[in-house]
Amino acid sequence: MSNSSNATLGAFVHRHIGPDEAETAEMLKLLGVPDLDGLIEQTVPASIRDRSSLGFGPGLDETTCLERLREIARRNKRFTSLIGQGYYGTKMPLVILRNLMESPAWYTAYTPYQPEISQGRLEALLNFQTLVCELTGLDVANASLLDEATAAAEAMALAQRSASSKADSFFVDADCFPQTISVVKTRAEALGWRLVIGDPEKDLAAADVFGALLQYPGASGQVRDIKPVIAQLHEAGAIAAVAADPLALTLLASPGSLGADIVVGSMQRYGVPMGCGGPHAGYMAVRDTLKRSIPGRLVGVSQDSRGRPAYRLALQTREQHIRREKATSNICTAQVLLAIIASMYAVYHGPDGLRAIAQRIHDLTARLAQALADQGFERINSAFFDTLTIQTGGQTSAIHERARAAGVNLRRIDENTLGVSLDETSSDETVRLVLAIFAPAATSSATADSRQALAGIPADQVRSGPFLEHPVFHRYRSETEMLRYLRRLADRDLALDRTMIPLGSCTMKLNATVEMIPVTWPEFGEIHPFAPEDQLAGYQLLFDDLETRLCAISGYDAVSLQPNSGAQGEYAGLLAIRAYHRSRGDIQREVCLIPASAHGTNPASAQLAGMSVVVVACDATGNVDITDLRAKIEQVGDRLAAIMITYPSTHGVFEESIREICDLTHAAGGQVYLDGANLNAQVGLCRPGAYGADVSHFNLHKTFCIPHGGGGPGMGPIGVRAHLAPFLPSAPQTGEIGAVSAAPYGSASILPISYAYILLMGDEGLKRATEVAILNANYIAERLAPHFPILYRGDQGRVAHECILDLRPFKDATGVTVDDVAKRLIDHGFHAPTMSFPVAGTLMIEPTESEGQAELDRFCDAMIAIRREIADVEQGRLVIEDSPLRHAPHTADDVAADVWNRAYPRAQGWLGFGAQTGSKYWPPVNRIDNVFGDRNLVCSCPPLESYAQAAE
Ligand SMILES: *Cc1c(COP(=O)(O)O)cnc(C)c1O
Repeated sequence: MSNSSNATLGAFVHRHIGPDEAETAEMLKLLGVPDLDGLIEQTVPASIRDRSSLGFGPGLDETTCLERLREIARRNKRFTSLIGQGYYGTKMPLVILRNLMESPAWYTAYTPYQPEISQGRLEALLNFQTLVCELTGLDVANASLLDEATAAAEAMALAQRSASSKADSFFVDADCFPQTISVVKTRAEALGWRLVIGDPEKDLAAADVFGALLQYPGASGQVRDIKPVIAQLHEAGAIAAVAADPLALTLLASPGSLGADIVVGSMQRYGVPMGCGGPHAGYMAVRDTLKRSIPGRLVGVSQDSRGRPAYRLALQTREQHIRREKATSNICTAQVLLAIIASMYAVYHGPDGLRAIAQRIHDLTARLAQALADQGFERINSAFFDTLTIQTGGQTSAIHERARAAGVNLRRIDENTLGVSLDETSSDETVRLVLAIFAPAATSSATADSRQALAGIPADQVRSGPFLEHPVFHRYRSETEMLRYLRRLADRDLALDRTMIPLGSCTMKLNATVEMIPVTWPEFGEIHPFAPEDQLAGYQLLFDDLETRLCAISGYDAVSLQPNSGAQGEYAGLLAIRAYHRSRGDIQREVCLIPASAHGTNPASAQLAGMSVVVVACDATGNVDITDLRAKIEQVGDRLAAIMITYPSTHGVFEESIREICDLTHAAGGQVYLDGANLNAQVGLCRPGAYGADVSHFNLHKTFCIPHGGGGPGMGPIGVRAHLAPFLPSAPQTGEIGAVSAAPYGSASILPISYAYILLMGDEGLKRATEVAILNANYIAERLAPHFPILYRGDQGRVAHECILDLRPFKDATGVTVDDVAKRLIDHGFHAPTMSFPVAGTLMIEPTESEGQAELDRFCDAMIAIRREIADVEQGRLVIEDSPLRHAPHTADDVAADVWNRAYPRAQGWLGFGAQTGSKYWPPVNRIDNVFGDRNLVCSCPPLESYAQAAE
């Protein structure tokens, strides 16, 4: 065995890691190596191997770990936060809390690239898109973006590429949230666009801009008529983007009806806790004319091979994965789980319930407005939904102090102005309390009923007509119905709670229950991201310790927890590199070298950071071609800004030349960005910051156990060496340039997951996890090698933590495609491996350390059974069109049909391994037609008749 004895590993480590001692020994035996250390010696180059300890000591047991987190949570102070500014108190319905947010069937799912096993979450996302379309009054909405501020930056970029105006400036309403302004500024600066920030009614010269961003209602609470400004923009050929509060939109005229082309915002207040900044679903909706260029993922309706309606991700070819250098956005991981929660909040409340919640908030606000006016306080915003900006007459500090004493946070704007935003959790008591804070001597005039419908909303800004008329928003109002709807959708999907998900590059490892428990504690959830620091003492402790530990793991000197995904980490890291070069006068350094094998987000992020991409070739063994690298370095000369390299490579190999690649780049004045998505192969074995890299992102939703949530949330903090530390993202709430997310610590409320994982594993456990991840991948490679070619291996014949099966020879010989194999795996109850990345026509398998030998064998046996079916075609027993491979996946309708006229036995069709154990997974649809869906783009809930017609 390896040098760490079991006693030092701790009980949790054995729960996290799949193979036990006996299995590990047996697997090592198959590989012909004596122990784990021997395997690692054959895998990780000696030149980068780092045997020093991480210094974390032994792992904690689960009880102690939860106690530690309780202690941390207790240090956060839960005030009544009426700060607003994009974050509001809200009530997650408990049926959703327990059966969705806390349900592994939902949170351990992967992005729905395999639509046949994702119909449940795709339906929920289609509900989300429908909800957003109806609230905004626009035609097409995507299935979430990272937060409101990044959505606004994406809106600016979309405006720039689609406006008929060729101006180079973008206008931003000064009444936008400061954090939105920060993130938009950062993006505009990198791309060389000028920003004009001001009052749209006074400062906007429409002819000088390609677009504008307005906030509705404004940060001040003002509900302004945006129609005239939008008309002005349109006349000049510019695009009108509006950031809108989706709860206000249940009462307000939709921005679409006022002419907006793009609407963005955050769905946080649809039941998702503030969580000190996230995660929450950002949203974007656009006019029909812009639908083919909307960033992010889009769920659409298509049909399966039986002609039944079926959901899938639409317009996949627009994705950055495919577009690479031509990409216009780098969004990959988004906020699927949070979008689903928000959609279910709307499904459960329905349009009437949503309006009632909004109306109640508005009534309370109207009463507070009246009471404050009675006390002589002047209000800056004449109209309002839920937010009042009050002139304090120099009393801000005194009022603020009384608020603190009463456990209330207000929005401090300046010495003469304070903001108050009410929310779903507000009550008469809240109104009374706020009034007492502003005017301690006031009598209880606030309770005097000044209720008049929509008192704060001008009559011509009131929404007219019904919305959310689709039955899905009316059917599930009782808890019984809601519970069953959630269960029914979850049952249609395959997530980690049913099967291994061997997706290469995605690291679908265990998301342990103990790690998930603290996420829904109110001490983490009910914290406003802009609350004063002394209320965040617990969070701060967690941030500091997590940063320290990530530094120890990665060999870097400083960490920023701000980026909300790996791709945003790439963007933030490249911006740091850019700023570093500029600080030294190297303004011309704007070329980013990227190997041909890179993940699509790499070139997309480089593009967003204002760099141009030069591709470096890979050699026949899949490694970076050093000769070509030298040539490219020579060619770009002093324009070299950086190289972006993934390590171990996306080909699943520890390249021996990594140090040389770093040295060559540094010698030419460039910086090394090391994509850390594959850190699961390195933790405890080697440190990027020590072997030559300058900056990396860490996908906490891969290596550090944050569940994928069906396509988000994620977290992509970056680590940097000391010289880049001054260029890490800045605090967004200041409105200054440099921020990449709306909240200072990104999706802070899911950081306890990664933190708990690190505490539970201890340094020996973390190292063991890496070793077993490598063992599992090599075990699969060894078992499958006699049946499928393994595309790439390291110098000593080993793969890293993943391996690529080459199916191209079979395609040439028999016509069988990666799709056929992927869909046939569904019949065996498996989620497919990563398809056609990084090499078209291949499957990339990453088992992770969490899968035991039995599950690995079940998978290998399924692949070998599939190989036999390929042989049937090879040897002429069946043509591919008639084979079970092409007919896969098989549904209950197929096998229950009275007539079976296939060329293979009925039982062969459906008899996967799951069936033998009595827990067969039945996909709800047959193979889905992607081309049909893209030609007939439908991205919101289709009318029910269409289902009825299809069933005929
Ligand atoms: C997952 C991944 C990314 C992108 O990370 P997101 O969190 O999805 O944005 C980048 N590079 C590689 C190699 C990856 O596997």
